Amino acid sequence: MEEKVEEVLDRPHPGIVVAESPRENLWHTVLAQLDDVARRLKLDPGIHAILRQPERELTVAVPVRMDDGRIEVFTGYRIQHSSARGPCKGGIRYHPEVNLDEVRGLAALMTWKCAVVGIPYGGAKGGVQCDPRQMSEDEICRMTRRYTAMIMPIIGSRRDIPAPDVNTNAQIMAWISDTVSMLERKTVIDIVTGKPISLGGSVGRREATGRGVAIVARELLKRRRRRLSDTTVAVQGYGNVGSVAATILQQMGCKIVAVSDISGGLYDPRGLDIPGINRHVAAHPQGLLEGYEAPGVEKFSNDDLLVSDVDVLIPAALEHQIHAGNAPYVQAEMIVEGANGPTTRQADEILQERRIIVVPDILANAGGVVVSYFEWVQDLQCFFWDEAEVNRNLERIMVRSFEEVWDFSQQQQVPLRLGATMLAVDRVARAIQARGIFP
Ligand code: NAD
Repeated sequence: MEEKVEEVLDRPHPGIVVAESPRENLWHTVLAQLDDVARRLKLDPGIHAILRQPERELTVAVPVRMDDGRIEVFTGYRIQHSSARGPCKGGIRYHPEVNLDEVRGLAALMTWKCAVVGIPYGGAKGGVQCDPRQMSEDEICRMTRRYTAMIMPIIGSRRDIPAPDVNTNAQIMAWISDTVSMLERKTVIDIVTGKPISLGGSVGRREATGRGVAIVARELLKRRRRRLSDTTVAVQGYGNVGSVAATILQQMGCKIVAVSDISGGLYDPRGLDIPGINRHVAAHPQGLLEGYEAPGVEKFSNDDLLVSDVDVLIPAALEHQIHAGNAPYVQAEMIVEGANGPTTRQADEILQERRIIVVPDILANAGGVVVSYFEWVQDLQCFFWDEAEVNRNLERIMVRSFEEVWDFSQQQQVPLRLGATMLAVDRVARAIQARGIFP
């Protein structure tokens, strides 16, 4: 049974806090939010019904010869939620907990994300239920190639363009591109994004999500009339997204007082030496903060980081990190969601009641898909941009998108998450209306 917000707020500070369980069903959460948005937008019931169902769902069996000679059969998915605004776009995730409802929910969130930043894509997502940490590189390569062959009937540069997600990377995208190239007997690079630069990847893609998070945080501070030099920031997760966001925000003048990763957290109220931390992480065998020492820097836990006394909190690790157990104790005035789904539904209500501003993931971390779009455009034209051009165009799109979501949310007097989703659903609905219903 869900706890009431007041009951949660009344509870004493628990110190170490636990996430709600069982895990939210992402698809149910996405549908509940869509229903709310449809009501507020007075959406045509037919269009609402279209958006409540993914356009196409493919479940595939992926047999793989393992290194020890056994055959293991993995289950893979590719789900296209909507192609109303353009070819479907979305990552491929390798994880033991991948399941149909999670992939459906993630596909729909990609539809909203592409619409909210106004890039000409629909939404999709894929995944294979597997534990890549227990597999050799060769096994992952064979699994990727077979999965690619199985989903090939529905992907394509004008149909559906996959990208990396949890536990997939540029190498895996290269194998997907190569598999399609071999089967089609021609070089096909525009079928996936997030590829290595040597195979039609884009400069600036690796940093794009963190850069987008930093741009959105800066724009939010401007709207709140806050000086960057007076702003303290905590970043949870010091991987691709978190480390780049921290680095760029510090370059912009903010004071990064707390960072953390799976190995623990670092805190210095005078501001951490981010370039020094980056050098440490680059030299660490697993790329962790573990072992970093500097005068005045205290060690503290991830739970402490989320409730630390800062102006801006950037969760950039995993989903469901801010939950009903810790949301009442968050001290930050503003949260910018670098990770996908870092705030649970209950936590969102609590933060809203506490008037903490949350810039939602579909806007805050859209920099990655925006530069994926640039990669696709460059691949289609066989003409490649330099990093300054990539960053200039990313800046333009992120600033414009933030302004549109902010202004719309103010007009409608709704929180940014709801405003961003309303704006996105409205754009998708207009595209469906303009196309008409085939035949
Ligand atoms: P990553 O694997 O590079 O980094 C994740 C970081 O989180 C690591 O530093 C890890 O140690 C840390 N971490 C893991 N568990 C933690 C915990 N319990 N507490 C604190 N830190 C923890 O991944 P990433 O690419 O930076 O992605 C981070 C998030 O951003 C994910 O939710 C991802 O879906 C989302 N995202 C990433 C991109 C992208 O382009 N990389 C785009 C959009 C959204």
